Amino acid sequence: MTRIGIISDLHGNLHATLAVLARLNEMGVNDIVCLGDVVGYGPAPDKCLELVETNCSVCIRGNHEEAVLDPTRVAGFNSMARHALRWTRNILGQRHTKMITAMPLVEYIDESVMCIHDCPTPASNSYVHDSVMATRAFRGFDTQICLIGHTHVPAMFEVASLNPEDELAPADIASFTPVDGVEIILEEDCRYVLNPGSVGQPRDNDPRASFAVLDLDRRRYVVHREEYDIAAARNASEHAGLPDLLGERLAMGA
Ligand code: ZN
Repeated sequence: MTRIGIISDLHGNLHATLAVLARLNEMGVNDIVCLGDVVGYGPAPDKCLELVETNCSVCIRGNHEEAVLDPTRVAGFNSMARHALRWTRNILGQRHTKMITAMPLVEYIDESVMCIHDCPTPASNSYVHDSVMATRAFRGFDTQICLIGHTHVPAMFEVASLNPEDELAPADIASFTPVDGVEIILEEDCRYVLNPGSVGQPRDNDPRASFAVLDLDRRRYVVHREEYDIAAARNASEHAGLPDLLGERLAMGA
């Protein structure tokens, strides 16, 4: 296994998911890994789950999947997300619930890469947005690379040590915002937290779908952005009767 496509936070956006899977297929990746939140917000949670089942070797369970299985988990969601979750639960059949139940919370690609949806160190705030939160994340895994999603923002955090026991300060962490299509070299003597951004609901003011390719042999990481039919995705959201803002934010990438 060398080149691995990394997707996350599809959120029931069929148009974005199909565009990204087509691009990954074109790129000829050897495998695709999904970091969770296949459902929630968007109007096609069932179809996205089926596409992930067909195309991905691994799919981590995200917080929106957790909330499908355990309705008490929506307490931490805003009203829009709660509304969408109730809607999602009604759409999904037994087969889809079974797929979600089977999703692991953590998975390893090989001995060097751990996959988790949010933050490898449990915390009330599990959004790894900055180097303060990254210091916490680095304590939670002992592989060289940890792949995360959840923030919907592509990011990369690097620490120049291979020791997971290191006491880290924010100043020890180098953080980068990956640029579309630009290869990043992963150093042999560093550890990394990598976030591919969101396929179905990007929040970095770039509405294009976001995903990544990790080349384990060449030690390279690239985030890619993919245009898709946002107008059609908005129509589908409105047609399903989901809150207007969910469709509007797709066009803003926020
Ligand atoms: Zn999400």
